[in-house]
Amino acid sequence: MEWDTRLIHDGQEPDPQTGAVNVPVYLTSTYAELAPGKARGFVYSRTGNPTRAALERVLSRLEGGAGALAFGSGLAATSALLMAYPSGSRIVAGDDLYAGTWRLLQVARSHGVRVDFIDTTDLANVRRALAERPKADLLYLETPTNPLLKITDLRGATAVAREHGTRVAVDNTFASPVLQRPLAFGADVVVHSTTKYLGGHSDLIGGALVFRRRSLLEKYRWYQNTQGGVPGPLDCFLVLRGIRTMGLRVRAHCKNAARVADFLSHHRRVARTLYPGLMSHPGHAVARRQMDDYGGMVSAELKGGLAEVRRVVRRLKVFTLAESLGGVESLVNVPALMTHRSVPKALREQQGIREGLLRFSVGVEDARDLTDDLARALA
Ligand SMILES: *Cc1c(COP(=O)(O)O)cnc(C)c1O
Repeated sequence: MEWDTRLIHDGQEPDPQTGAVNVPVYLTSTYAELAPGKARGFVYSRTGNPTRAALERVLSRLEGGAGALAFGSGLAATSALLMAYPSGSRIVAGDDLYAGTWRLLQVARSHGVRVDFIDTTDLANVRRALAERPKADLLYLETPTNPLLKITDLRGATAVAREHGTRVAVDNTFASPVLQRPLAFGADVVVHSTTKYLGGHSDLIGGALVFRRRSLLEKYRWYQNTQGGVPGPLDCFLVLRGIRTMGLRVRAHCKNAARVADFLSHHRRVARTLYPGLMSHPGHAVARRQMDDYGGMVSAELKGGLAEVRRVVRRLKVFTLAESLGGVESLVNVPALMTHRSVPKALREQQGIREGLLRFSVGVEDARDLTDDLARALA
């Protein structure tokens, strides 16, 4: 089946008992057992819940995995992922990460894990880091990255990792499975914040891990139950509902983001526009190879720095000043003061996250209203 059909039907068959076309929301913490130790399939809702199981089945199919596990947030998913790396392990990670992921890796460091941050857009850096000893146990990638929209060659990076026996995890939140399926390029685990494009309506917090191999899935099912950061059934239902329109939404996000990027890239007050769909983007060729479109996120740096940023965000009317992304409404974020405030200033600036940087989550409104809003605010 094609994408738009799969998003609506794959794993979302009518309820066999009642015919309900939507998965029921099983608001229950526990389940009556037939005899001591003999359950009908579910025992306790931290361990498993039918609504969550339905979401996990759908997420796994969308990413082409052997199975998926849902969590109460994207960071709960990443923290469960990191549970398998005890003191003495070594993790190599991209240097432009979601700030919460960066914070979690600082926690891992404080527990005795060696964490090296590198620019993974250049495969030579990946080769060098993975050739170093001690052996890297995990390569953690984001592509496109947040907020600089850097692109890493997934096929190339996973091939290098395979040579060294290093596991690869890819945070696929910015692309969504509609645009990019990292497991097909050889990644072992996909990380999602379902808060973003999968949910799609800024009305929930959720996360997921999707696994290429069943053995890893089963290992992590144990961690999921042990860590306990699971989502409630109503949030699982909302993600399932969001998934059904994700094809339509992501297409509209991409179309509008391309318009916004084009507009910003020609504006005299804009120093640089970052969008993988622009020919000028250094990762454009790789993005074209591994993504089906370029996504809904656009970043731009204003020539006037922070003072200008403050003026512009005050004057925007359609774009709401807020963290997060991937919802139907357009949002604008100032990474240096908002999402990436916890990253030390010197490190931030070294990475290119300057105070004049704006990050736009381009929504599905009429594109003309979005560019008019920007034109007015920048005038
Ligand atoms: C939001 C986000 C996360 C964290 O997800 P939460 O649901 O907020 O915990 C991780 N990675 C990326 C790329 C994100 O955008």
